[in-house]
Amino acid sequence: MKRLISVLIGILLISGSALAAESQPKVSPVKARVRDFYAPNSENLASDEMRVIACGTGMPTTRAAQAAACFLVELGNGDKFIFDIGSGSAERLSSLQIPYDYLDKIFIGHLHADHFGSLAEIFIGGALMGRQKPLRVWGPNGRSPELGTAYAVQKMKEMYTWDLAGRVGLVDFRGYSIEVNEFDYKAENAIIYEDNGVTIRSFPAIHALDGPVSFSLEWKGLKFVFGSDTYPNKWFMEYAKDADLVVHECFVAVPDLVKKMGFTPEQALVVGTQIHTAPEAFGKVMSMLKPKHAVAYHFFKDFDTTAEVNDRIRTTYDGPLSLAEDFMVWNITKDDIRVRMAVVEERTWAPPLVTKPELPQKDDSEKYSKEMGVPNDAMGYSDFIKGGRWGEVDEVLRGVYKEASEALGRKFEYPTTN
Ligand SMILES: [Zn+2]
Ligand SMILES: [Zn+2]
Repeated sequence: MKRLISVLIGILLISGSALAAESQPKVSPVKARVRDFYAPNSENLASDEMRVIACGTGMPTTRAAQAAACFLVELGNGDKFIFDIGSGSAERLSSLQIPYDYLDKIFIGHLHADHFGSLAEIFIGGALMGRQKPLRVWGPNGRSPELGTAYAVQKMKEMYTWDLAGRVGLVDFRGYSIEVNEFDYKAENAIIYEDNGVTIRSFPAIHALDGPVSFSLEWKGLKFVFGSDTYPNKWFMEYAKDADLVVHECFVAVPDLVKKMGFTPEQALVVGTQIHTAPEAFGKVMSMLKPKHAVAYHFFKDFDTTAEVNDRIRTTYDGPLSLAEDFMVWNITKDDIRVRMAVVEERTWAPPLVTKPELPQKDDSEKYSKEMGVPNDAMGYSDFIKGGRWGEVDEVLRGVYKEASEALGRKFEYPTTN
């Protein structure tokens, strides 16, 4: 009897392993295998598909491992939207090698540096790397004009007056302009963008001062919700319903704020539970909203902090969850949400151009001088500086012009005055 049983078990084991072997893909020492990561620009986006890429998931103090808040949404209709552009995130965007003409729409949830600190980088760097059209920004107003997005963008432009004055007249200047669309932070689920089948709405958030908002984006029956920072609020609970992907802040757990950030317990409790959303509160929010997939960001995700955040979320939420880190990718269709990490290049140069660069327009400098109030004749070298040019390099530089003229078969005149 014993023998019979062991024979039967043997047969079962053999047939079991045969089945397993059959369902396994063939492994070969020389053939390529399918890898489960996202390599930017290697996959088509289906006409009904949304792809979201985390380009910043960290904290106000940036570090090499995590930039601050930034989520890119790419749609199968060709539209791309950036939600928040926190410090360090422009670098992450550059790693995706997306032509900058496509990265022209930015929605800012609130004006903390960790949510718009990279705006100047994508404004100037993006133009330099091929954006030949104005950058478009949407953001809330505040309780006074100085606390609104239009003010922040105007002052940023003023801060970079020297930078821009040194470029105008020398380069295609079309990308060095910025359009601001400021809207009412109190508007509840108001449409702030509607085009090409995409609707973006804004609703108020509670964080630091009046002004912060959250956004929803709807397209082809898919819904993406992005919460910039907030204490859990009633508007989010109402307008983030029925979403596929809900991104909401989830702050560092209170004990880690004390242990790793050097906060006093009093500070940690206020910042970690009242100004921001604690992991337990994040879980509570998601357990009520029940999105198809919840995304927590805004904490330093390390080997010794992740479990703390996860355990605390899991006291109140047991649904689908991503603890976001930079370059996490979500491919969203009506039936499926696929989560992977992107593997990107760091040593990137300019991505392909969508629009051909033009020579500078004759009146670019004049227009800029008028707009920013910089005297036109101050936008160039003075005789003092011109007089300091070291003439000994003239000959070698003429050689570079000659080389270009020969290589390209047209004459490039060597500039005689500068
Ligand atoms: Zn904030
Ligand atoms: Zn923040």
